[in-house]
Amino acid sequence: MNKKLHIGIIGAGIQGICNALFLQKKGFEVTIFDRDEPGSPAASYGNAGHFSPYASLSLNRTDILTDVPAMLMSSTGPLAIKWNYIPKMIPWFIKFILNTSKNKMMHTAKNMHQILNLALPAYDELFDEIKLEGLVEDKGILYIWNDKDLKSRELEINVRNELGVKQQIVNKKEIHDLEPNIRPFYHGGVYYPYARHARNPKKILLKFFELFLKKGGEFKKQNIKNIDFENNKPIFISETTRFTFDKVVVACGAFSKRLTDNLGEKIPLDTERGYHVHFKNCDHLLQRPVISSNRGFGITPMEQGLRVVGTVEFGGLKNPLSKSRIKNLIDNAKYMLGDLPDHEDEWLGFRPTLPDFLPVMGPSKNHKNVFYCFGHHHLGWTLGPISGKIISGMIAKENTNLNLDPYSSIRFS
Ligand SMILES: Cc1cc2nc3c(=O)[nH]c(=O)nc-3n(C[C@H](O)[C@H](O)[C@H](O)COP(=O)(O)OP(=O)(O)OC[C@H]3O[C@@H](n4cnc5c(N)ncnc54)[C@H](O)[C@@H]3O)c2cc1C
Repeated sequence: MNKKLHIGIIGAGIQGICNALFLQKKGFEVTIFDRDEPGSPAASYGNAGHFSPYASLSLNRTDILTDVPAMLMSSTGPLAIKWNYIPKMIPWFIKFILNTSKNKMMHTAKNMHQILNLALPAYDELFDEIKLEGLVEDKGILYIWNDKDLKSRELEINVRNELGVKQQIVNKKEIHDLEPNIRPFYHGGVYYPYARHARNPKKILLKFFELFLKKGGEFKKQNIKNIDFENNKPIFISETTRFTFDKVVVACGAFSKRLTDNLGEKIPLDTERGYHVHFKNCDHLLQRPVISSNRGFGITPMEQGLRVVGTVEFGGLKNPLSKSRIKNLIDNAKYMLGDLPDHEDEWLGFRPTLPDFLPVMGPSKNHKNVFYCFGHHHLGWTLGPISGKIISGMIAKENTNLNLDPYSSIRFS
């Protein structure tokens, strides 16, 4: 294997940077491209910071279709739609509905479980090389609920049991002991003691980026418009320049579709928009991330204060931020914790989501020197290092015990 191959990566989010670090470990020369500076307000900056190896069950589940109308009607619920975008999204919705059968739900859950199970050890391989300085907390993650839709909770618990995901069902008293500041609106919950959370995802990302530069990696601030080829070698085309590589990785998160369309693949990538606000100096109120299952939002104690995160809004990449969703997060935070000071930092981010809720990882259908690594929806922060490890192994042509076929883009052709 020629270890001097030069790899170009588009995207300096958690996926792009982790791909780069694992490629460097295997001796490749790597250049990352991003239209913004690393740490810019992309999804990898503003997420809830959960490292969630337990979250195998995705949103393509058998109970979702009966729940959607009530969720859309509810002003406190997690789901929202930008109506001007619906016509564009109909093909995605149809594919999504076809993925909510029991078989498809379990196919996704098993294949998410396969990679989620390896997510924390892959992170640890990278954490060993940086100074974490308290940026990762090992205090678990807690979900709480009231009795309103217990059937959905039962479904989740059963699927996780079937997959062998460790979970600790907790009662009211145990929840209170874990998080005494939460108002007692809950009836029960589930606790994952081995889950972790980031105190500042941006700082962790930048520490990884510094490590990448220290190891000889190059960064170019360029917007890549297209990928061309000469003798099978991929060429990145920016506004001003062409850059030729031996192999390339597309890791542009929710923005990957324009490039894959240009490469002749019809990958049905779209976005679930999500939001956050901060309540500064309030992080002492929670020990760990707490998620309300009924209302579909969560609060993470971070350096910025309490980060309140939530909403699945279908509305594409261009619509502006919805003030009503910000209000919804503020109201939900107060529902959980009572009085809070004024919020700061209204942020909108784009989860990259395929209708079967599996990421796309692997070579392009049409070009053997182009690899894809995007579409990790709600779990892209957790899955950065393991995805980088998988793609770097593919590029180095290593054998693997994992079944990687389910992540191939070929499933959409
Ligand atoms: C509200 C919210 C909460 C979340 N919470 C969690 C959580 O707690 N845990 C978890 O595991 N996941 C979470 N996620 C999901 C996770 O944040 C994403 O899946 C992940 O960050 C995606 O990473 P990425 O590197 O693929 O994309 P991004 O972080 O979006 O990075 C893509 C990069 O590509 C660049 N780019 C795009 N197009 C081009 C181009 N043509 N040329 C050059 N550069 C380009 C962009 O500028 C960007 O920097 C959350 C997401 C949201 C929105």
